[in-house]
Amino acid sequence: MCYFEQTRWNCGYWKWGTFRQQCEKEYRTGETCGLKLVYSWQPAQGPCKICEQKCKKERRIDKMLNDIQRWQREGNRRATIEKTMRDVNDIQLQINELLASHVERERTL
Ligand SMILES: [Zn+2]
Repeated sequence: MCYFEQTRWNCGYWKWGTFRQQCEKEYRTGETCGLKLVYSWQPAQGPCKICEQKCKKERRIDKMLNDIQRWQREGNRRATIEKTMRDVNDIQLQINELLASHVERERTL
């Protein structure tokens, strides 16, 4: 077991930082045994990169839904509306993937 710094976000996301201390089982210098343990951790500022990407995508969806509503009022934009609906779906799927990897990361702490 080797010890590493860790950075933690408020949302539960985390990442490994610099290597701190080698374990007794591993004698090769510069090598780590593969089992990482937390030496100490620091809170990170702002949202994690996954939350940040998710926010951006959510804002895009909001904008697209607004556009769709406007087009529906204006009429005569059926093809554009359908295309944008598909785009909204695609982005929603990407958001779901981001959420899944976020949850996965929180679980492995
Ligand atoms: Zn996050």
